[in-house]
Formats: sequence, C-alpha cells, structure tokens
Amino acid sequence: MGSLQEVTPFRGNPETERKISALLSKMTLQEKIGQMTQLGTFDKSDRPLIREGKIGSLLGVRGADRVNEIQRLAVEQSRLGIPLLIADDVIHGYRSTFPIPLAEACSWNSVLIEETSAIAAREASTEGIQWILAPMVDITRDPRWGRIAEGAGEDPFLGAEIARARVKGIQRNDWNDRPHMMACPKHFAGYGFAEAGRDYNTVDMSERRLREICFPPFQAALEAGAGTIMVAFNELNGVPCSGNRWLLHNVLQQEWGFEGMVVSDWESIDELKQHGFAGSREEAARIAIESGVHMDMHALVYHEHLLELVQKGTVAESVIDDAVSRILRIKFQLGLFDRPYLDTKLASAMMLAPDHIQTAREIARQSIVLLKNEEALLPIKPSVRKLAVIGPLADDRDALLGCWGGQGRSADVVTILEGIRSLSGPGMEIMYAKGCDVTEGTEQERMDAATVARQCEVAIVVLGETANMSGENNSRVSLELPGSQLALLKVIHETGVPVVLVLESGRPLSIEWAQLHIPAIVETWHLGIQAGMATADVLFGHYNPSGKLPVTFPRSAGQIPIYYNAKNTGRPLMKRYVDDKETPLYPFGYGLSYTQFEYTDLTLSKSSISPQEGLTVQACIRNVGSVDGEEIVQLYIRDEAASVTRPVKELKGFRKIALQAGERQVVEFKLSAEHLGFINGQHQFVVEPGSFRVWVGPNSNEGLEGQFEVANTP
Ligand code: BGC
Repeated sequence: MGSLQEVTPFRGNPETERKISALLSKMTLQEKIGQMTQLGTFDKSDRPLIREGKIGSLLGVRGADRVNEIQRLAVEQSRLGIPLLIADDVIHGYRSTFPIPLAEACSWNSVLIEETSAIAAREASTEGIQWILAPMVDITRDPRWGRIAEGAGEDPFLGAEIARARVKGIQRNDWNDRPHMMACPKHFAGYGFAEAGRDYNTVDMSERRLREICFPPFQAALEAGAGTIMVAFNELNGVPCSGNRWLLHNVLQQEWGFEGMVVSDWESIDELKQHGFAGSREEAARIAIESGVHMDMHALVYHEHLLELVQKGTVAESVIDDAVSRILRIKFQLGLFDRPYLDTKLASAMMLAPDHIQTAREIARQSIVLLKNEEALLPIKPSVRKLAVIGPLADDRDALLGCWGGQGRSADVVTILEGIRSLSGPGMEIMYAKGCDVTEGTEQERMDAATVARQCEVAIVVLGETANMSGENNSRVSLELPGSQLALLKVIHETGVPVVLVLESGRPLSIEWAQLHIPAIVETWHLGIQAGMATADVLFGHYNPSGKLPVTFPRSAGQIPIYYNAKNTGRPLMKRYVDDKETPLYPFGYGLSYTQFEYTDLTLSKSSISPQEGLTVQACIRNVGSVDGEEIVQLYIRDEAASVTRPVKELKGFRKIALQAGERQVVEFKLSAEHLGFINGQHQFVVEPGSFRVWVGPNSNEGLEGQFEVANTP
C-alpha cells in the first residue's frame, strides 16, 4: 500500500515561521508554559486546564470521538485556540499487533519494517494520535534488561538502518489526506547500558563509546526526519539525561543542528530530585529547561514553577520562546491548525485491514530464527500422522502480544496451537497438553504431557516468557526458561520422541541444555497477532526461515555483557572462564535455513585505497540445497591497528537475497570512508591509514576473508 516516499528532514518553512512568531507575540507567559506541559492521564477534572491554555499535549487518549471532544476544548474554548498534540506509545503495531521490535529486527528487512511502522501509524492516526513515542533505538548488550524487547539489538549499524526505516514508516503520510504523524526516537541516551540490566540504573561510559555505539541510531532517526526526541531516565556519567546540557544542547542542538522538540520521559524532570541532581522541584524545572528539555511529560514541574522562575529573572523568557516555537512548529507541520478534527468513521475500516493482517504474517515469518535443525527434523514431514503440541505457551494469546501490546487484543491473536491446527494436513492428528504453567508446574502435569508425546511421532514444545517478563521495568537476573519449563522439556525429551523446541520470548534466553539435547530449536519471540500462522508456516515448510539474530545469545547470564563487536585485548585467547566456555551460544547475525548457502569468490576491487576512496567487495552466494530460500549476507570489517583499539569485527553492510534452489548471485558491497572511519580519542570521526580485514559471510562468526590497505596520502 502506498509508494515509498522520501521524508523531508524536519524544518519549518518561512510561512510557518511567520505564523509561529505571530502566535508567540499574542501568548501570555502562562500560555507558553501550557504548550510545554503534557498530561499523561486525562479525566474530566482536567478540562479547565485545557480551556485555560495550560496544557499543550496529552498522552494516552484514544478514539476519534474522544479526541475530537477534547480537542474542541483547546480549539474552540481556549483563548488562542491552539490545538493539542496527542501522543501515544505505538511500539509494534496498533490494533494490528506486529512482532516485538527485537523480533522484527531479525528480519533485517528495512523495507518491511518501514511498512509495519507505516501501518501502525495509519491505524493510530484514525484514533486521533498524531505523535508516536517510538522508535526505541537504544542499543543494548544486556538481555537481562527488559527493554531489549523494544529495540533492534546490539549493533549500531543495523540499529541505524532500522531506526531510519521506522521513522520513515511512521512519518510516511501516504494515505487519505490526514496530517502527518510525528515520530519520537527514544531514549536519549545510553539507556540500554543501565548497570546490571536493571531498568533506570546508572550509566557510566566513555564519550567515545557513547558516540560510537549509542548515537548512530539516533542520528539516523533524525536524518530520516524525526522532529522530536525523548530523553532517557538514566544518568549519564553523573548527569541525568533530563538535566544534561552537554547532551541536549552541545551535542543534539549545536553539533547535530537539531531544530525539533525534546520531550522528557515520564516525570523524569521531577526525578532529577531522586537522582540527587536537584534539591527541589523548582530547581529541577530550571535545570531541565536550561538543559534543553522543551516539554515536560506528566510531572507538571514546568506548570508549577516556570512562571515564577521567569518572573524572578532566573530563566530567560527567550528560552521559553525557543521551546514553544519548537512545539508550535510541530503542530503546524502536522497540519493541526488547519484540520484539528478527525473523521470518526475512518477507524473501523482501517483497523485489522486485510493487508495489515497479511503484513503481520509476513513480518512474523521473517522474524523467526531457526537456531538448530539436526537431521532435518524440520520442516515437519507431511507423512507425520500424530503431532504433539505441548507447553504453557502453545495456546496462550496474551504472551504473543508482547510488551507494550498497546491496542492489540488477545481475541485477534492466532496461537501456535491454532496455527498448527489450521495448517496441518487432513491426515495429521494434533494432540495438545499444556504440561505446566509458565512459572509453576507439577510432576503429574509433566507426566500427562509425556503420555501425549509418547503417542505422537514428533513433539512441538512451546516454552518461554509471558509478555510481562520483558518491557519496561521487567528485567530478569536469569536468562533460563522460567519456572519448571526446563523440567517439562527434559521429561518430553526422555520419551524418545523427537522434539522441536519453539521459544517465545522477549529477550535471548540461555538454552544451553536444549542446544545440547534437543534436535530442533526455533526462536519465535512474541510475534503478534499472526504468530500462530507464521510459526506454522515455518514448522510445515510453507516458509523457509531466514531470520538472523540482531543480538548475541549468551550461554548464561554470567557471560553478560557478551557481544560480537568486542575488543581483542592483549590476551585474546585467555579471556576465559574456568566454569564455562567463553564463546556465546549463538553469535550475532546467526540463523539457519532449510537450505544451505555456499559462499565463494570473495573479490575486492582494490587492494589499496586512499582514505577518500572507496572499494567494492563482492562475493558469490549459491543456494546449494534443494529448496528455495532467503539469505542475509553480511559484511564485516576490522581495522587492524589504530590510534584507538578497534573491535574484532564491525558490521558495515548486509543484503537480504532470495535464491531458488541451485541459483547463485554475486552480492556487491561498497565500502567508503563512512564505513572505515571511527571516533578517535578526540571524539572526531577519522579514517586512519593501515591494514583492514573484511569478511562476507552468513553471521559474525563465519565468512570469506580478505584484506586491503588504506594508504597514507601524501
Ligand atoms: C517510557 C517511555 C514511554 C513513556 C510514556 C515511560 O515510562 O520510558 O518509553 O514513552 O513512559 O508512556
């Protein structure tokens, strides 16, 4: 639906700028502060605040009728008639719930991710939402952190590609004549590096690492046109992000030239007190506004204190004017002044439209990662007469909506059991046993499930996490299967019936025992409303799995942080543990297919280049198996010696290609300064001369290897 459109980077035009100045000159200080105030909850008693122009934005009000009614208070009953900006967390679909973002990232398919973001935005906009508080673009290396589910994993290059796609999708504006939707990349910055994976925790990292690892997806999101950004809850090197002038003023505004609007996170301005960074709410207000936070989410700190701070001369009115201009610019850009009201009949046709459901199934299929498949147990042979489906999540709807399930409804979800039933052939009997609950289970339940398994030729065992085990403030100390699920898996394995483990989770799980004993393992995450159909498509071979991990799977939580783009250290081979292997269970970029791909003929267009020159890297990929499939071809580099030590590998390119059985394709990558450079000790992006290694392969651990030099230019 709709063609791909380039999004113009966010910027006010002269006409808009004139309107903003005119409006600003009419506003009282109180009304200006009103624009900078967002309420996160709304009830009748808040109506006077809107009429008095004391609220500029609302969060979490939905439905065309309701939004129109509230909007009327601002547009028709407030003195200046400035429309409200309606925000919402639309994280992975709206009513049509797509896979959690971490799962979607496994598709490495930015075109499809752009499409799911556009669909979510379309559905949300028919319910009055104009500002989506997404994408979450925080890089993380810690799967204990519950919010790993909301992002694109551990890599800045892949993360930037996906951030760009999501912003373009959200702001695509390709249907009807509704106004734009505005995106809000979050949480700026470093949030994914919370110590020990505990949400909101301290982040202390070098500026160099911050720039190299955390910033790229934010920069990509802003380049793609995002007009707003949300600050993070955490402190960063001793300064909470909501009061971090270096981050919000020096970097975001001065260095990157950001002209859009910065919103706090939920009450994060007030939290400057709890951080021990402000002595009072008044001081918190002053610090936040002076740092460059333009809108206060729900804390009412600006509402209560800015007026007096300006009147006392502590905060300059020009600072307020700047913030208000940015907010008004967004409202003009969204067309809210011209068309503040919604057509109330749009939503019913838009929600769960057939093409949205079809896209939900397609992205869910592409989000699935085949982790193991011994003796080609998968796909399930059509000759199987009795198939067991076992496990607490096999017929669970809610888990599949994942964290931030938003407006998704469990009634819309197809469970794994339902998907398997609907796609199994007429001669195949499906037998089901729950076996245990997600967190509890009895010996008897396990025995009953084993009895079911024994009657079947293959057992599909569906285990993992519920939706509320990941997402905000849902961190875990362990990455094991919760409760007695491993005990259930062992009991089914002991029956001797071949087992396919289907994992539903919001994070990488440590499943070392399963990797050693279970012949087939499929990671399906929380896949959204079409989870059951997509999973059954893969299990029966109607779709050949192609997903690759955007994050490393540790063997145990004790290995964390473990990530592919690590440093060699002076003793690479001695970085070991005495009680487990030092390698991950599955590396970044890993994922299997029902076919095999052979990589040959790595060629580099040049063996030596100047820092300004580029080169081309080619490899031939052949589908040497007997079924058609898709492969995500990955390119990694390593700068062998530099003024700052470089990671052992860094992803710098990828392509998803479809190859019929027997078909071959030469895949070409271009490498230029933007890929070869890095942030040096002075925080500048530089390309240094020297030797580089390059790999083209199926994951971060395998591939054809080549070498080239970046020569010293005279
Ligand atoms: C989260 C944000 C979210 C906001 C509003 C906060 O707790 O950190 O990601 O946008 O709530 O719901």
